[in-house]
Amino acid sequence: MKKDNCIFCKIANGEIPSRTLYENERFRVILDLGPAAKGHALILPKEHFDNLYELPDDWCSDVMKLAKKMAAQMTEKLHCDGFNLVQNNGTAAGQTVFHFHMHLIPRYDNDGLNINWTPGNPAAEELDAVRALICGE
Ligand code: 5GP
Ligand code: ZN
Repeated sequence: MKKDNCIFCKIANGEIPSRTLYENERFRVILDLGPAAKGHALILPKEHFDNLYELPDDWCSDVMKLAKKMAAQMTEKLHCDGFNLVQNNGTAAGQTVFHFHMHLIPRYDNDGLNINWTPGNPAAEELDAVRALICGE
């Protein structure tokens, strides 16, 4: 299903032009208009899913296989030194377009891009409690 007024539905289905790197039955891969680094691209499903929670399992496996294929091609052609896959879900996580997408971000030595965090230092009991919470124990 497509969603009315969803810009990524329109781009993914070719109603709005984009710089397409690859497409198949399910996905279109486009260059990001506001790239974090040279070659920053997005994998867009041609059906509308708001986020990862909504993405069916078989689409999940397809998107990861496609990410691997694109990472290999982009690394070879761009001669980047590393690669990030980034996928944001919800405003708190930095999602700004509410149509599932995966970021493909080529990285270059000393590119200064900051998608890192400062590691926390929780006590062992805190880690145990979080584990119990997630695992329902
Ligand atoms: P998010 O923050 O939701 O994970 O990422 C949204 C991404 O979409 C951003 O990197 C932004 O630059 C990109 N973006 C937003 N609108 C458009 C558009 O119309 N075309 C393209 N190619 N990228 C877009
Ligand atoms: Zn959409």
